[in-house]
Amino acid sequence: MDQNQNNQNKKPDGKSPKSRILVTIVISVAIILLITTVYSTVVKSQYTQTTFSDFMEAAKNDQLKEVEIHSDRVLYMTKEEAAKPAAQQKACYTGLPNGDRLSLARELDELGTTVDVKIVEDNSFITMILSYVIMFGIVFGLMTFLSKRMGGGMMGSIGSSKAKVYMEKQTGVTFKDVAGQDEAKESLQEIIDFLHTPQKYTEIGAKLPKGALLVGSPGTGKTLLAKAVAGEANVPFFSISGSDFVEMFVGVGASRVRDLFQQAAKVAPCIIFIDEIDAVGRSRDSRYGGNTEQEQTLNQLLGEIDGFDSSKGVVCLAATNRPEILDKALLRAGRFDRQIIVDKPNLQGRLDTLKVHTRKIKLAEDVDLRKIAQATAGAVGADLANLVNEAALRAVRKGRKAVNQEDLMVSFETVIAGTEKKNTVLTDTEKRLVAYHEVGHALVAALEKRSDPVTKITIVPHTSGALGYTMYAPEEEKFLSTKEELLVDLRSILGGRAAEEVAFGVQTTGASNDIQKATAMAKNMVTLYGMSEELGLMAPAAVHNQYLEGQAYMDCSQDTYALVDKTVQEILNRCYEDAKRVLTVNRALLDEISQHLLVKETITGEELMSFVNAEKTDLVEAEAFEPTEE
Ligand code: ADP
Ligand code: ZN
Repeated sequence: MDQNQNNQNKKPDGKSPKSRILVTIVISVAIILLITTVYSTVVKSQYTQTTFSDFMEAAKNDQLKEVEIHSDRVLYMTKEEAAKPAAQQKACYTGLPNGDRLSLARELDELGTTVDVKIVEDNSFITMILSYVIMFGIVFGLMTFLSKRMGGGMMGSIGSSKAKVYMEKQTGVTFKDVAGQDEAKESLQEIIDFLHTPQKYTEIGAKLPKGALLVGSPGTGKTLLAKAVAGEANVPFFSISGSDFVEMFVGVGASRVRDLFQQAAKVAPCIIFIDEIDAVGRSRDSRYGGNTEQEQTLNQLLGEIDGFDSSKGVVCLAATNRPEILDKALLRAGRFDRQIIVDKPNLQGRLDTLKVHTRKIKLAEDVDLRKIAQATAGAVGADLANLVNEAALRAVRKGRKAVNQEDLMVSFETVIAGTEKKNTVLTDTEKRLVAYHEVGHALVAALEKRSDPVTKITIVPHTSGALGYTMYAPEEEKFLSTKEELLVDLRSILGGRAAEEVAFGVQTTGASNDIQKATAMAKNMVTLYGMSEELGLMAPAAVHNQYLEGQAYMDCSQDTYALVDKTVQEILNRCYEDAKRVLTVNRALLDEISQHLLVKETITGEELMSFVNAEKTDLVEAEAFEPTEE
């Protein structure tokens, strides 16, 4: 990646050679004046200060031993001082009023005393000039050096952007490196075609959009797609993050935007990619907060986008995961009027992503990427890339030549649940509680026919803070969930706390995460999915942000609000009671599996199911159990 260099000499802001010379002269003169003043003060302090008449008096009285006449001063030693030991001698200093050294020497000579007179030639004009020239050279060199280091001098570094504008002449990324995302690729294909042969479009008179907005959750590959567009079209790629524009000083962001577009125009056709555009492009109304600096930057951005001639072949791509907070002006026709959705990958997409990232990695025979893809529902491209890398690192650590399935599965857990933390010491009681808690989750899920099978239960603590966890693996991609399935999930989530209470009659803090999750689920059922009798099909909440995991905000009357809370509470209570009933009925099974887990610390879904299937009678009972209807 070659970082872009700005042309510094054209800047009018104090960095042109002329003004640099001027500044250098001023600084040099100041430094030399300072040095001479300091020097003469130091010199004077070594002598006793006297007046010129004192000196003449002493000379006439023949009290002097030596006299040195300089161009501007007279240094002399009295006989009295000269008689003292060398360490205590102090010479005297006085000015030379008329500067006429020769006539003073003659005058002293005519007195006929025994004084020893020397005329000292110093501070010649040449040395003075020379010192100025040398000083000038040093200062000039230093300034040039510093301004290069700091990217344009002290003032320059505030005003203009050397900041993080990266230009890649060739990204080297193509659509082959982007797995899935077929719809996004299709929409971008037109832009690539345009960058290849702009004439084709301009001849007909078609105007291409100047920008497209890539919308999707973090890590879904928006940057990657933008790079791939540049790679496919074989044009340079400029990238900057929206947050780089946001500065403390008003006007700085705007000048960075100006710079960016100027640089891009020079190398057109090219792609400008602005990551996190919401940092600058957020709506200017006060709801999301705003400030002058951000507004100026946004205005400049809008101006630049309107200003550039798209027939030159500059295409501006931007990425965000919060399109709803963007200023409407940005989305108007002729600006980012195209939105390209970059979704989280589905099963096939995940499989393809894994394939892309394992292309250059040696895989062992036993690797089954499809299984990994199945287990990673909800993961984005960045997670998968990370997972594969972790697996490769693990293989190296274990001294293997190829990555095997176990590496992939373990690193999946690392990415999902944090690394195993073997040194967290739990007391035996705590361990028993955690075991029953986790088995509670798993058992409720296993006994409910429609629930996803459990793949793994563990009580090995993880760095994420979870003391243990139960891993559910969806067999197939699910786009829809029925109310019954959601209720089963709820019972399984609450099964942890239920087991604690059934087995020990206690409630622990370990269930806090479960309870939050269950509450959020139940709330969604009531407020978004219309799954309660009390509210029916009314949705008192609106989804605030589709792309950052369904945060909904309530939009209803106080009465409805209260009703929602009551309904959510009822659903949770009912599911909890159901979970407790299942576990009470299957208490023997709960004990048996928990004991086994305590010994082995980790058990697989198959082991769990072998226990469950062995207890035929109990299973029959469990199947006979009907969840209470709402
Ligand atoms: P975003 O910009 O959406 O936050 P990035 O483009 O920075 O995400 O993705 C981060 C990394 O994740 C990429 O460098 C790439 O390795 C991986 N990645 C994401 N999506 C994909 C994909 N569809 N195919 C292959 N790799 C992907
Ligand atoms: Zn739990």
